[in-house]
Amino acid sequence: MAYIEFRGICKSYDGINQVLKNIDLTIEKGELVTLLGPSGCGKSTLLRSLAGLEDINSGQIILDGEDITDTPVQKRGIGMVFQQYSLFQNMNVEENIAFGLKIAKMDKAIIEKKVKAAIEMVDLSGKEKSYPSQLSGGQQQRVAIARAIVMEPKVLLLDEPLSAIDAKLRRELQEKIKKVQKELKITTIFVTHDQDEAMIMSDRIHLMNQGIIEQSGQPVQLYTHPVSKFSAEFIGHYNILTPEQLTNFFPEKRFPGNYYAIRPETFLLSSDPINDPSFMTFEAEVMDFISRGNVLRYTLKCKDVTFTSEVLFRSFALFDVGSVVHVGIEEHNLLMLND
Ligand code: ADP
Ligand code: MG
Repeated sequence: MAYIEFRGICKSYDGINQVLKNIDLTIEKGELVTLLGPSGCGKSTLLRSLAGLEDINSGQIILDGEDITDTPVQKRGIGMVFQQYSLFQNMNVEENIAFGLKIAKMDKAIIEKKVKAAIEMVDLSGKEKSYPSQLSGGQQQRVAIARAIVMEPKVLLLDEPLSAIDAKLRRELQEKIKKVQKELKITTIFVTHDQDEAMIMSDRIHLMNQGIIEQSGQPVQLYTHPVSKFSAEFIGHYNILTPEQLTNFFPEKRFPGNYYAIRPETFLLSSDPINDPSFMTFEAEVMDFISRGNVLRYTLKCKDVTFTSEVLFRSFALFDVGSVVHVGIEEHNLLMLND
């Protein structure tokens, strides 16, 4: 039996618009899963319903074999970290982390031991006496995480905890969270709208779209096998082309699907004709290119159809804007989508 089960969860704030539409979702013990999706798709609402911070209209939530649908917040054993740093400003790091244990009237010596271990786990040794105002955003989030894990919750919920933190530090914190999660084997639900972050962090991704789970799977599965147009657009920067558009490239071929998804890096670009028979080929004009780190992203056009292609940045293989290139694609890289 799964550790967490959402069964038929429906939620509306105004009685009209369904924010969660009959969600069924299971999460295994010890997993780090991501709820990924655009802003407003219902990620926080689903998370808050598990925490007990939001009532649901119908459905059931099971945690560790127990129906917690009507269990009060404090009795659910769930730890939560939000995007906004929610530390007590008048307490130092130690006091912030110890707060919940004190409320639980735990023995003083045990509190000290647990707080010390939590501080070490998030690499904040030396900052015990600092106040939140003396810490960076990243450090404050580490305190918030320590404050949550010190309670040994059954589930740790992280709602866009890194969204306000700059890119470089965010990478470090992603690694830190993963490490802590694996050490403690704590079942964790991480919410993000950032597909790269989801790819880096997760054992499994649950991609949400307007109140439903669009697709669930391991990061690589979602990346290589999107089930819908929405998945393909959200993960992997796929080009989405209609059969009519593809017919422009390959007039002799027929395309029965509704849409086709093509990953930008699966196109082969060449200044010479491509003679390898495993490639379907056409010619396109270079409209534009930008460099994204070690990748060059070309915008190409063939008979009014614009698409993108990505190649590793090798200075000897640049194509000028306005030049015509030979483009090749293997047929198996055209993924047929039905909606
Ligand atoms: P996400 O976390 O994916 O950005 P949310 O779960 O916060 O999405 O919100 C989903 C939808 O519910 C949005 O359309 C949002 O405007 C609406 N919503 C969220 N909270 C409330 C609320 N307290 N009252 C009314 N509508 C809300
Ligand atoms: Mg949210």
